[in-house]
Amino acid sequence: MPYCIFGIKILRNMKIKIIIFIISFIIFIAGYREYNLLFNSKDKITFLNVGQGDSSLITSKRGHRIIVDCGPNSKITDQLESKLGFWARRIDMIIITHGDKDHYGGCRDIIEKYKVGKVMINGVFDSKNQDYKSLLELIQAKEIQILPSIKDTYITLGDSIELHLLNPQNNLWEQDIRDDNSESIVMLLRSAKNSILLTGDADEATEGKILSQYPQLDVNILKAGHHGSKTSTSDKLLDAITPQQVIISAGANNSYNHPHPDIINKIKKRNIRIQEVKNYMTGIDILL
Ligand SMILES: [Zn+2]
Repeated sequence: MPYCIFGIKILRNMKIKIIIFIISFIIFIAGYREYNLLFNSKDKITFLNVGQGDSSLITSKRGHRIIVDCGPNSKITDQLESKLGFWARRIDMIIITHGDKDHYGGCRDIIEKYKVGKVMINGVFDSKNQDYKSLLELIQAKEIQILPSIKDTYITLGDSIELHLLNPQNNLWEQDIRDDNSESIVMLLRSAKNSILLTGDADEATEGKILSQYPQLDVNILKAGHHGSKTSTSDKLLDAITPQQVIISAGANNSYNHPHPDIINKIKKRNIRIQEVKNYMTGIDILL
């Protein structure tokens, strides 16, 4: 039976070769993806899927990385890995729009995993919020520079993306304020292709103040304030900035019932496209 034994041997060799080929192919594809994520960065903002909360990642083709809010928990690190790759370990700046957990909760995980250059905050501190206080202490312990947000500051990413700070209106450094939604850092992201208003949890009154100061705001994409809650996205704002698209970041089946049906209706009534982050597993990518 030597012939038969020989046949089995060939078959076994073929199987080993196929397995080696498949493993090599998988390693090549994974390596190629990681290489692209690490070295072929794009001018892009991604509204990350962090559940009930807010987080967006802005990257530039020159490799800049800015995170606006960190979502409520450690889920953010999986989202970042899907966008930046397994080996990425640097974030240039985190901007925490205000001191609510659904915006700062995941910052600790980011700071533990990545080397973070700077953190910008609105300056408000709530003496009852020990959790936020301990995050700020961690940031200081890691010797990360903390910057106050100052209205009309411009943050530039390369030569084609800029963030213009529109709110808070006043210097709030170390003011003890319990509910600081209205003092959220609000920014206008401008690039060659888009003009995107990032609102944090700013309420209608804050929207009104911004409009009175910047009546000519040119916006084509609006991130709905406060997760599409009824407190934000006023008729006045929609009529003034006339966006073509609204992004809503709220968790599926969340207990706050965000977004509010009235907000959805007023957006639809104006024939504006709505995209909800919860419907996209790794967030909504917009090229800048
Ligand atoms: Zn919020």
